[in-house]
Amino acid sequence: MSILDITRVSKTFPGGTVALQATDLKVEENDFITILGPSGCGKSTLLRMVAGLDSPTTGSIELDGTPVTGPGADRGMVFQSYTLFPWLTVLQNVCFGLREKGMTLADQHAVAAGFIAKVGLKGFENHFPKQLSGGMQQRTALARALANDPRILLMDEPFGALDHQTRELMQELLQGIWEAERKTVLFVTHDIDEAIFMGNRVVVMSARPGRIKCDLPVAISHPRH
Ligand code: ADP
Ligand code: ADP
Repeated sequence: MSILDITRVSKTFPGGTVALQATDLKVEENDFITILGPSGCGKSTLLRMVAGLDSPTTGSIELDGTPVTGPGADRGMVFQSYTLFPWLTVLQNVCFGLREKGMTLADQHAVAAGFIAKVGLKGFENHFPKQLSGGMQQRTALARALANDPRILLMDEPFGALDHQTRELMQELLQGIWEAERKTVLFVTHDIDEAIFMGNRVVVMSARPGRIKCDLPVAISHPRH
């Protein structure tokens, strides 16, 4: 069974904009799918519906066979704007979801420290977001999403606000984490280089109307070799 099953999903916004038309997508466990397409083709709308932040006009979205009806901890989100809690440190930000799960403080810190190290932020545990560069804030957001151990990671242009060199570093970091941990990832981008560097499948969308035009396997990059 697919982990995520999107079936004949359409989305028309009030006012009549057709953002998405009759879209099918099956995401298998351990897939890292990049969704590539021009601005306005419905990429964010599709991801937001999988996240449960918006709902389809028609069609269905199922995660592990259960219809998606709202946001949930089984989906980890990373947006372009870092969306960290500014009043919490790196460590506290990464612990946030773990605390909600009722984990003891010692366990929260142990789990969080592991993910903070994995994204290369060891030593920055007690920094606040405003003391960090954009890339470091996005590393924190990634660690926070991973720490919750979601079934699927949903990423909407997460590196779009970073400079070119930082973007490439972050792409290599994410690709390496996916290779090491076999996470399932759905990643939206309008950058062709990013879309074909990361992951194992590229889904290409067109804006006229919002629709998947092709779904292709891509050769896996091994940034560390
Ligand atoms: P992308 O992420 O590919 O740039 P979006 O999913 O953001 O595309 O948008 C797809 C289309 O839907 C665009 O025409 C956009 O203007 C429109 N749209 C997105 N969100 C809304 C909204 N909340 N209300 C009305 N139209 C929207
Ligand atoms: P993205 O391409 O990353 O989706 P946008 O600038 O298109 O970024 O959208 C940012 C926010 O504005 C989203 O919440 C989206 O739903 C909303 N939005 C986009 N287009 C419209 C629109 N035509 N009318 C109302 N809201 C919109």
